[in-house]
Amino acid sequence: MKTSPWLVTLSRIPPEGLELSLTLDEAWFARWLAQDPGLEIAGPARAEARVSLTRHGRDLLLRGRVAGTLTLACSRCLTPFETPLAASFELLLTPGPEPVRGGEEPLTPEELDLDFFTGDTLDLEPYLKEQVVLMLPVKPLCSDTCRGLCPQCGADLNLGPCACHGGPSGRPGTS
Ligand SMILES: [Zn+2]
Ligand SMILES: [Zn+2]
Repeated sequence: MKTSPWLVTLSRIPPEGLELSLTLDEAWFARWLAQDPGLEIAGPARAEARVSLTRHGRDLLLRGRVAGTLTLACSRCLTPFETPLAASFELLLTPGPEPVRGGEEPLTPEELDLDFFTGDTLDLEPYLKEQVVLMLPVKPLCSDTCRGLCPQCGADLNLGPCACHGGPSGRPGTS
């Protein structure tokens, strides 16, 4: 049986709850990016998470705080930039239906409904991933004043005007 800091044995949660510290280091983010190329993280990322698990009757309350640094690509100029990541979350998990008898196939991430848990082992990794995804800005900007790329020539206008905008190296109107 593999041991992982992400796996919690539910029957071992003491009445006062369980506190865990998890490190989401660069290798962890790199593995995640390799599995999910659509993830909008553009470079090194690292974070620390503090998680607490408490029982509420048959339910489980999962609370956490995540803080770290992400590298995102600016949605205007595409330049990677570092940005702080900080958020807290609270999730109530309820016991899900038992797996269908004979159905030994593991659930794919799409099928896995994170509001439910089954069995006596809870894998915290998908919850942390979901929270990081929720924290990602829809339109990341390297700066509020980012000028973006020229729609005609693609030059980064933060570096100065391009030829089509009457910059030093060109005449307006020629392309
Ligand atoms: Zn930008
Ligand atoms: Zn241009």
